[in-house]
Amino acid sequence: MIIEFGKPFIDENERSAVEKILRQPVLVHGKNTSIFEDKFCNFTKSKYSISVSSCTAGLHLGYLALGVGPGDEVIVTAQSHVATAHAIEYVGAKPIFIDCELDYGNIDINQIESKINKRTKAISVVHFLGMPVDMLSLKKLSNKYKLYLIEDCALAIGSRIGNKHVGTFGDIGSFSFYPVKHITTIEGGMITTQNKKIAECLKKIRAFGYEKNKDLIAKGKLYDVDKLGFNYRMNEVEACIGIEQLKKLNIILKKREKNSRFLRQGLSLIDNIKILKGSKKNFTHSHYCVSFIILKNNTHYRKFVMEELLKQGIRSSVYYPGPIPNLKFYKQKYKFKTNSFPNSYAISNYSIALPVGPHLSVENIEFMLKKIKGIFNEI
Ligand SMILES: *Cc1c(COP(=O)(O)O)cnc(C)c1O
Repeated sequence: MIIEFGKPFIDENERSAVEKILRQPVLVHGKNTSIFEDKFCNFTKSKYSISVSSCTAGLHLGYLALGVGPGDEVIVTAQSHVATAHAIEYVGAKPIFIDCELDYGNIDINQIESKINKRTKAISVVHFLGMPVDMLSLKKLSNKYKLYLIEDCALAIGSRIGNKHVGTFGDIGSFSFYPVKHITTIEGGMITTQNKKIAECLKKIRAFGYEKNKDLIAKGKLYDVDKLGFNYRMNEVEACIGIEQLKKLNIILKKREKNSRFLRQGLSLIDNIKILKGSKKNFTHSHYCVSFIILKNNTHYRKFVMEELLKQGIRSSVYYPGPIPNLKFYKQKYKFKTNSFPNSYAISNYSIALPVGPHLSVENIEFMLKKIKGIFNEI
């Protein structure tokens, strides 16, 4: 038996939708991308949703649309996927890293204010593994200093504070539909924004900077180009898969929550590990995975545990193997010391992430728990 870390939840519905698209002439710029965007607005209650080729592309376009660029600083968490920081580098701005806290793995909001100066343009946060960052406190801070807020929501579809979906608190939210995320379009992403001007700019720069309007048409022109845009569109095949996936999203989220609760219960009986918390009053978690830190603080133990799990057919993972400032590109560029982000370092080096996706049955989780307990009795 193999327990995969992530497995796309795809069936006949996606397959026949794709087949239908492939029999028609329109493969990009079609109605499926608009339908997917509308349905995404329905789910998140975002005013605008703009489909893109990936979450990373969405973050990149987000900074461009906000006018963040050379000379600007963006405050960002040290514990995330490297894309969160790369998007800041793409526009020539400088990432200012902040360590995470160890309850949930989210950015340590208490450390932000001391890093704000006249070059600071924005704060970028990640809803770590799907647990929302405290956006209400953050919003107070960003309002006080007039900073933009960017939310990396790659693992946070279904995450809410009260009834408000993440990605609708800040100026820009960016979601991912990479195969192992909650829902997939193979590759793909979605930007959310509540601002009409930003939405229009995003639509333009995701497709070369095309400008189309009545005046141009009256002059007999198809379009003009007034911005250095990219080709970051989502195609019709990806969008039609996304539409089918959204139909299953509530089932997926329920199953993840149930699996997560069951796995956490079992793990709580094991000594010498610290499980990143899965609940907070008024906050809805999307339960991407369950991550725990081995308190023996030795990379050897982690390697041993992951290898033993793999021998039993259990594929675990690490979210994320940074900290980002310790990855070569950032370490060499900004000369960070290895011990500058101790909490993020602990997660990167001593934590293990276990799956809770809808591909796991209760029996699978019981099996995982039994094997993990066995391994921890050995070390
Ligand atoms: C996966 C991930 C990304 C990258 O998403 P893509 O759609 O592959 O670009 C960005 N940020 C976080 C937090 C992620 O987990």
